[in-house]
Amino acid sequence: MARMKGLAMLDFDKIGWIEKEVPSIGPNDALCRPLALSPCTSDVHTVWERALGQRHDLILGHEASAEVIEVGSLVKDFKPGDKVIVPAITPDWQAVESQSGFSQHSGGMLNGWKFSNAKDGVFGDYFHVNEADGNLAHLPDEIDPVDAVMLSDMVPTGFHGADNAEVAYGDTVVVVGIGPVGLMAVAGCALRGAGRIFAVGSRKRCQEVAIQYGATDTVNYRDGDIVEQIKDTMGGKPVDKVILAGGDNDTFDQAVRLVRPGGIISNINYLGTGDYIKIPRVDWGLGMGHIRITGGLMPGGRKNMEYLSRLMVYGRLDVSPMLTHRFDKFEDLEPALLMMKDKPADLIKPVVKLY
Ligand code: NDP
Ligand code: ZN
Repeated sequence: MARMKGLAMLDFDKIGWIEKEVPSIGPNDALCRPLALSPCTSDVHTVWERALGQRHDLILGHEASAEVIEVGSLVKDFKPGDKVIVPAITPDWQAVESQSGFSQHSGGMLNGWKFSNAKDGVFGDYFHVNEADGNLAHLPDEIDPVDAVMLSDMVPTGFHGADNAEVAYGDTVVVVGIGPVGLMAVAGCALRGAGRIFAVGSRKRCQEVAIQYGATDTVNYRDGDIVEQIKDTMGGKPVDKVILAGGDNDTFDQAVRLVRPGGIISNINYLGTGDYIKIPRVDWGLGMGHIRITGGLMPGGRKNMEYLSRLMVYGRLDVSPMLTHRFDKFEDLEPALLMMKDKPADLIKPVVKLY
């Protein structure tokens, strides 16, 4: 069997390069070779916060654009040589959960998340994609494969936050956390027609990019309670929606205190530690305030990728302001991932180009 190299979680708190066999594919699957890769904060939760439990020698990564190398006998729409968008979430489309509209949970809670969780991720010379016809999308010529990596996870996750918040024309929305996920939530809110968008984060670079994506106000959580800061600006009034793309379990408390009766709190943050989330009883209307709290793993799937990519093809979304650190060697993945863990002030997202 042919061998390949990959960047893996070796143990809790430990990453390193390993060799493995090149994955074999089934009749519906594809074997791909990455064109560009990016580490995710979720990889950091997995390795350094132990969020998924133990994993030995699991190749990390779920953000890639790629070239198809081989396809199974039943794959209809992709062939070797095709350039593709690869979503981080690759559901089993025949599962009942997928038929119910929650493909992210095909076969059980979060089971649509396969790369770097249930099987080796994309940080290898090659990687395996299940159900290629349902899970891959053709990469339009107009999109640079480096930019296309943001379609794997950052764009669909941020936009999912805005979708779940049901952002409507004129809404006042608070986006808590403006790393790459929150920035794409800001962009999604702006595209959905939000009126006022508060972007919460402390790093100046992220605040500047948030304004570019449509934020009207920035709030630094290190300057004091964000509820007080935002309510002061709003003359004491609550907001319509809150999207959580950063913070911790206690941030839900702030979200409930910010949102109006009937408002929506939409979490896309990966809660890597702790057992419980506290909801303030009185601010939640004693349980009767019609405040909805929802949270979701990003939807994958070919259709979603094709539609989101049109925003880039037709100039409505430019992901390049987020790509602050660019590398050009496979080996650079390791410093890029460590950078994602340490979050230097000028970092939004590192990306590694391999072509
Ligand atoms: P970053 O770490 O880059 O961004 C986090 C943001 O939260 C920063 O703006 C940070 O501010 C801000 N923040 C930190 N602490 C607080 C606080 N106490 N109050 C308010 N804001 C705070 O993360 P990413 O954007 O890369 O990812 C965000 C989350 O989304 C992660 O948990 C990630 O795992 C998750 N995720 C979820 C997915 C899904 O499908 N639902 C998919 C992909 C990722 P600053 O740094 O400026 O101080
Ligand atoms: Zn991710």
